Amino acid sequence: MDCLFCKIAEQEIPAHTIFEDEVVKCFLDINPDSNGHLLIIPKKHFVELDDIDENTVLHIFQISQQMKKLLATKLNYDGLKIVQNNGVLQEVKHFHIHLIPYYKEEKPLQSLPEIAEILTK
Ligand code: AMP
Ligand code: ZN
Repeated sequence: MDCLFCKIAEQEIPAHTIFEDEVVKCFLDINPDSNGHLLIIPKKHFVELDDIDENTVLHIFQISQQMKKLLATKLNYDGLKIVQNNGVLQEVKHFHIHLIPYYKEEKPLQSLPEIAEILTK
């Protein structure tokens, strides 16, 4: 299937991976809204929220909790926005959750390798 995020899940296309297990992969958004903008995907191809089986939804949200904690600890954000687009709002048609940190003081964007190092070291 010609799906960008399936290719990232299968390592055919590189990404700055922060965490992965058999079910999910978490990687930095290539065009971040802020430092630490993270995407969480199931490795299996689903399009929208209601396409996913209950166990996988639960696991994705458990990992989202862990990633939220990681971003809080390592990047010291002031707030965090969670976005999940469906339908015409969704650009990449493979289910994904955005975790988007918010900082009261606007910070310059750091490079993805720099942010990946902070989040994985
Ligand atoms: P959405 O509108 O929710 O489908 O958002 C898709 C997101 O995927 C956007 O924020 C893009 O910046 C991001 N994106 C597109 N291509 C890549 C890629 N190769 N690696 C990481 N993120 C990507
Ligand atoms: Zn896919």
